[in-house]
Amino acid sequence: MDWEKDFYEFLMEIICKQNSIRLQMASNDIVTAMQKLPPKHPVNMHRKQYGNLQQCFKAKKNPFFSYTDNLVLLLPKDKMDQLNQHGLVPLYQLYVQTYESVQKKLIEIMKINKENQCQVCGMVYKVLINRQGMCGEEEDQKAHVPMHQFNIL
Ligand SMILES: [Zn+2]
Repeated sequence: MDWEKDFYEFLMEIICKQNSIRLQMASNDIVTAMQKLPPKHPVNMHRKQYGNLQQCFKAKKNPFFSYTDNLVLLLPKDKMDQLNQHGLVPLYQLYVQTYESVQKKLIEIMKINKENQCQVCGMVYKVLINRQGMCGEEEDQKAHVPMHQFNIL
């Protein structure tokens, strides 16, 4: 049995199928989804090897997501494509389908909300308040880098 494979396929699937325009998911929602599975399901068996979800994610080598205390965020498309070349993205076809279907809708909504998506961290941010220190988790934080080139009037 490959618990880790099952676990990360499950993670990808619930993020892709939540019918959200953002390829991210709150930890609480992930835990809720896991609790709907049987306790001995491979997904839960994998998680139980760690103290909590956070430690579980920290142990993942070459993750296809970034993780903060309460949010799992899929990496930007170009990084996913790079990882996929090494077979490191579970359910890649599902991911690509989902990415493409949400992209057009997302861009329209971002324009309306004066938002853009960051090339570096993948986060959607308010363009008008983007500044040094908002992107990433390192000490030397920079401003988010816009992925989509459109004018915000
Ligand atoms: Zn960023």
